Amino acid sequence: MVKTKAKIKQNIKSKIKPKIKLVENLCNGCDLCCRKYKIYLFPNEAKAIAKKLKINYKNFVENHLDYYFELTEYDNYAKTDFLEVVLKNKKYYLFSILALKQKDGACIFLKNHQCTIYGSRPLICRLFPAFKFYDEHYDFCALDRLQYKVENPRQFYPLLTKYLQFVKHNKLENTWKYLPKLNKENVYLVIDGQRQNISDDLLMILRTFL
Ligand code: SF4
Ligand code: SF4
Repeated sequence: MVKTKAKIKQNIKSKIKPKIKLVENLCNGCDLCCRKYKIYLFPNEAKAIAKKLKINYKNFVENHLDYYFELTEYDNYAKTDFLEVVLKNKKYYLFSILALKQKDGACIFLKNHQCTIYGSRPLICRLFPAFKFYDEHYDFCALDRLQYKVENPRQFYPLLTKYLQFVKHNKLENTWKYLPKLNKENVYLVIDGQRQNISDDLLMILRTFL
């Protein structure tokens, strides 16, 4: 059967449309996921949230984002494009990223157990708990216990990998239109999943990665 132009258009549209089934109708709103994790952000997501808050982008980035420098153990079998560093004779991958600030151990946008930027929340929030780094289990999450499935949850990985590669090659300053001023209050160093204190010397070293 010959397809009409409209049908072909519709067909293409449905193929490129991201297949994310949102989980809000089943989520019990316990808000634990907003308390437990740091929320990585892509520049276009920052732009969308700034727009939602009706503040300018620079203001948003300066007041709502923190730097994370993460060192994760080097894996001989994992092929990544991340920067390799050696610390105390141990090899790591380094990646630098910006994440939403937290207040009292929760995302700054969580108020009265509700997300105040819900329609503009980042992809990583939308996909929780369906995507999993390293096949974790989120036993605290009712949705995870129900084994609720989101179609293609791993769509986050290529995006994140692409972003991190871009940061590695172009540096954060060329990836983000504007960056927060680096100071002890907005920088976190995470080694093997553990947050470390930042000394002045370390801060100077981290500045060289920007
Ligand atoms: S932890 Fe699970 S059930 Fe609780 S708010 Fe997050 S997604 Fe919903
Ligand atoms: S942006 Fe919203 S959904 Fe995401 S962690 Fe913050 S409060 Fe939760």
